[in-house]
Amino acid sequence: MAPLSVRYSPTDATPTKVWLSPPHLAGGELAALQATLESGWVAPAGPVPEAFEAAIAEATGIPHVVAVASGTAALHLGYRCLDLQPGDEVWTSSLTFVASVAPAVQMGAKARFLDVCPESWTLDPGLLADALARAGRTGRLPRAVVPVDLYGQCADLGTIRAICDRWGVPVLSDSAGGMGARHRGRHAGAGAQLAAFSFNGNKIITAGGGGALASEDAALIARARHLATQAKEPAPHYQHETTGFSYGLSSVLAAVGLAQLAALEDRVAARRAIFEGYRQGLSGLPGLSFMPEPAWARSSRWLSTILIDPESFGADRETVRRALADEGIESRPVWKPLHLQPVFRGGAKGSSGTVAARLFERGLCLPSGSALGAADQARVVGIIRHCCAG
Ligand SMILES: *Cc1c(COP(=O)(O)O)cnc(C)c1O
Repeated sequence: MAPLSVRYSPTDATPTKVWLSPPHLAGGELAALQATLESGWVAPAGPVPEAFEAAIAEATGIPHVVAVASGTAALHLGYRCLDLQPGDEVWTSSLTFVASVAPAVQMGAKARFLDVCPESWTLDPGLLADALARAGRTGRLPRAVVPVDLYGQCADLGTIRAICDRWGVPVLSDSAGGMGARHRGRHAGAGAQLAAFSFNGNKIITAGGGGALASEDAALIARARHLATQAKEPAPHYQHETTGFSYGLSSVLAAVGLAQLAALEDRVAARRAIFEGYRQGLSGLPGLSFMPEPAWARSSRWLSTILIDPESFGADRETVRRALADEGIESRPVWKPLHLQPVFRGGAKGSSGTVAARLFERGLCLPSGSALGAADQARVVGIIRHCCAG
């Protein structure tokens, strides 16, 4: 029998390929993997996931954490912990990834999408306050409000939480892309009732796949942990009062995540430096601007994102994206707003997002990996400058 041989090297096929946000090994992963395998603790339980959870609590300042198989799983558990019921509404930002609400709609909830504000590109607190006041008067409050951290930029979570508290509506923060980001001095997700994080392959820190749900409320995380591990009641036999999920994070992946997390602050510094490189390299181009960073935020710059006004720039976003792709450089349009997605046609009334729609039309995420080399970044800059020159 031929030996099983798997070759995986993304650089083999296209030596000059530049990816949007590839994993960046921190150095400790191999040793951590070896130690984990040798210990025999490979299941989704035991000392390594526990250590990963403690490290996430330390990095985020959110004391209670359960590590799970993905960010989407963390969101799903969050919705279960908030007792989301069929027919309930869940409000989130128009400008996000479908996973923010996919578990909720699969549970029978209705999604409603609110626009983002131009200063942060995250959920607009003013719109939220008005919409909650209207819904409160008619007794149609949502079961949860789900602000989203966008490309490493936090939603204004403290402000959003205060607005939601007035109406008794819990906040589940989709902080999947928020590791290392800060709002008003706090880490992404801190201040929400629940916060979901992701460690999938293209995030600033990866476990090779994984996520976490965090809260200041120990009981909520105990409930999430129970549901994540098949909702087994304490008994020698299998005993169940509800059904749960098999959402635990393998010790093997937790070991990778733990080694990666040690480098978080370095990764934020590297991504911010890459953003600065784009800002300097692309300065002075007419019609080109950057994702803003409000005074109350410190973005991780997980993805460096630009806006292209086709009139003054002389080319549109798609022209720039294709010019980069022709040179083996991956870039990606800003999220297509969810209120424009066919799957949400006929969704809850009141969904909108003209700011989000404009950002989708003009926005482009540039290669932002923390290991992006100066020569590759200079190529990206050169191609974009060339598009502008015509
Ligand atoms: C990555 C991401 C998710 C999903 O996380 P997974 O770990 O891939 O399931 C959800 N929401 C946002 C905003 C994300 O960026």
